[in-house]
Amino acid sequence: MNFALVTGGSRGIGAAICRRLARQGLSIIINYHSNEKAALEVARDIRAQGGTAELLRFDVTSEESVDTAIESWEESHPSDRITVLVNNAGVREDSLLIFMQTDQWRKVIDTTLDGFFFVSRRILKGMLTKRSGRIINIASLSGLKGLPGQANYSAAKAALIGATKALAQEVAPRKVTVNAVAPGFIRSDMTKDLDEESLKKTVPLGRFGEADEVAALVAFLASDSAAYITGETISVNGGLY
Ligand code: NAP
Repeated sequence: MNFALVTGGSRGIGAAICRRLARQGLSIIINYHSNEKAALEVARDIRAQGGTAELLRFDVTSEESVDTAIESWEESHPSDRITVLVNNAGVREDSLLIFMQTDQWRKVIDTTLDGFFFVSRRILKGMLTKRSGRIINIASLSGLKGLPGQANYSAAKAALIGATKALAQEVAPRKVTVNAVAPGFIRSDMTKDLDEESLKKTVPLGRFGEADEVAALVAFLASDSAAYITGETISVNGGLY
């Protein structure tokens, strides 16, 4: 069976991506960090629709946790392959830089960048051997435009876009594509503390996006139709930037 691994698949955009990719015929590995209840709910939904889903807990910031979890998954699935990887796990720790604590800086950088590095490096082995695969990195408007109060998050997402472009060129000869998706304001737990009423006035389309609107693009990038797209960053932001 062909599997898609979605990091941070338990909630928000990641959960919507899991549901979409399952409808596209992929079996889903739902990674989560601490919220098992939410991850189980996503798995239950997918199975209720006739799909296949399993949970895989690991902390994307821990090399050991990533390697151990993926190794044990591979051992228990000798005839299955992970053909799609979505690096979606992310956190926000907003603060003006002058007041930013070192742990706020590190947590955001580590989750986005170490997460991308540890998980992609591990999963790429199989993709390169089989000469096919899709890696989709969830970046952000913040990484393209820079947003005040988010120097940590903007830096992490901009770096993720750079890594996407570099890796795309490295692995293209083996027919593995690597792209990034840059959402604007999307309704999820991550944005529930924002002032949606006033922020939506800054969006040309006049509203926050839905997680499934990001998932639709990810599903396209994971599909056969997107075989000739690589190294790109595509925005889903209602015209904001
Ligand atoms: P969310 O609702 O807060 O969900 C975050 C997900 O990441 C959860 O599944 C969480 O797992 C997981 N996670 C966090 N730290 C992790 C770690 N160390 N290891 C493994 N998983 C971890 O966020 P979201 O809004 O869906 O955001 C998803 C992605 O889109 C993020 O990369 C975010 O930066 C990006 N994004 C979001 C927006 C937006 O407006 N929402 C805009 C641009 C970009 P648990 O459930 O176990 O905690």
